[in-house]
Parts: sequence; structure tokens; C-alpha cells
Amino acid sequence: MSVDLTQLFFWPVLVYLIVILLCWTYYLARENAARLVSKQNRIYRCEICEHVYLDARDVPLARCTRCGNLNEAVRM
Ligand SMILES: [Zn+2]
Repeated sequence: MSVDLTQLFFWPVLVYLIVILLCWTYYLARENAARLVSKQNRIYRCEICEHVYLDARDVPLARCTRCGNLNEAVRM
């Protein structure tokens, strides 16, 4: 049985490129999913008790879950 030298290098390189492509696709999908979750929630930081919390509602002020103070969103 004789193996062509081109095939000896072609198949490992092809498999390597497919693995890189699959990893790239996986990490892009994961990054997009994380970005989608972070867009839905606003981050609030309480001025009184410094409690950090999330709120998915589209309101300018959200009530602190710990002390009840109204706070503005730190990040939209
Ligand atoms: Zn608070």
C-alpha cells in the first residue's frame, strides 16, 4: 500500500482547520448569547446600601431589592 505524500499532509490539515472552524463558531455563538442576555437587563447600584441588582423592565428608576430606595440605571 502506497500513500501519496499530498494526502499525508492534506487530511491532517483539513481536520485541523475543521476543528478550528467549529471552535470559532462555538465561541461566536456563546458570545452572542451572552450579549443578548446583557441587553435585556439593566444594572442598578443602590446609592444607600450599595447593593447591585438587575432589572429587565424598561424603567428609568428601579426599586432596590434590599432597602427599597429608587435608583437610576448604571448601565442600560
Ligand atoms: Zn438599597
